[in-house]
Amino acid sequence: MIPIAPQDRVFILTGAGMSAESGLPTFRGTNGIWRTYRVEQVASPIAWARDPKLVWQFYSERRRRHHTVQPNPGHYALARLEEELGDRFFLCTQNVDRLHEMAGSRRVTHMHGKIFQSRCERDCERPPFDDDWMLENGAEIPLCACGGKIRPHICWFGETPFGMERIAAALEDCMVFLAVGTSGVVEPAASFVRYARARRGYVRTYYVGAEEPLNRAFFDEVLLGPSGELLPRLFALQAPRMNADERG
Ligand code: NAD
Ligand code: ZN
Repeated sequence: MIPIAPQDRVFILTGAGMSAESGLPTFRGTNGIWRTYRVEQVASPIAWARDPKLVWQFYSERRRRHHTVQPNPGHYALARLEEELGDRFFLCTQNVDRLHEMAGSRRVTHMHGKIFQSRCERDCERPPFDDDWMLENGAEIPLCACGGKIRPHICWFGETPFGMERIAAALEDCMVFLAVGTSGVVEPAASFVRYARARRGYVRTYYVGAEEPLNRAFFDEVLLGPSGELLPRLFALQAPRMNADERG
C-alpha cells in the first residue's frame, strides 16, 4: 500500500510497462518493439535524415495498432487518483500512446511526445498538431507550407524531452514518487527518482512493475507484478484531520 496523507503531493512516472497489458509492446521485453526494428533505424534524427519513409512506416504501424487498444485497470486507477488529489497529482509519462487520456486522466505530461501528433521537421512557426496520417504504399510524406517534411511529434534519441521545466518543478515539490513499468534505462527519466530522493527523509519513492528496474537502488519500496493488477489496490488515501473548530 502507498499511504497518501492529505497534504502529500504525488509524482507519477509511467513507462511502456504501463500499457503492456493493453497490448502495446514494451521496448525491451520479450516481444519488444526493438526485436523488429533497431532504434537507430527509426527513432533518431539520423534515421529521419537517412530514410524518412522507414521512420513513417514504423510510426504508421504504431498509429494503426493504437486504434485497436483500450486502457487497462492501471490507467483507470491513476485517473481515479487524479480525481481525488486534483492539483496534488502530477502524471508524467514516457509513453506516446493516449491510454491515460482514454482512461480519464486530464493533466498528462507526455515527455516523449504523442503518437497522434505531428510537426514540421524545420520547427517553423507551425506548432505541433493532431494528426492520424499513415504512410500507405506509394504515398509521399506530406509537406508543411514552409516546404519542410511533416514528422512525428516524438522525442527521438538525442533530442530534448518536452515539458522539462514543469517536470522539474513537480519533482521539487513531491512527497511521494512512484514509477510504473519503466526499466530505468532511458535518460533523463531514469534519474527523476534520484532528483526526488535528493530530499530524502521527505520523499518516499516506490516502484511498480514486472521486474526490478536498473535504478532499483533509489527506491524505498519495489512492488513486483503487472501494473494493471497492482495499481487498483495500491493507494490508501488518509482522510484530512479535522481541526478543533470543525469538530464543534
Ligand atoms: P522499457 O521497454 O525499457 O521497459 C518496460 C518495463 O516495463 C520493463 O521494466 C518491464 O519489466 C516492465 N513491464 C512489462 N510488462 C509490465 C506490466 N504488465 N506491468 C508493469 N510493468 C511491466 O520501457 P521504458 O522504460 O518506458 O523506456 C523506453 C522508451 O519506450 C520510452 O522512451 C517510451 O517512450 C517508449 N515506449 C513507449 C510505448 C508506448 O507509448 N506505449 C511503448 C514502448 C516504448
Ligand atoms: Zn514548416
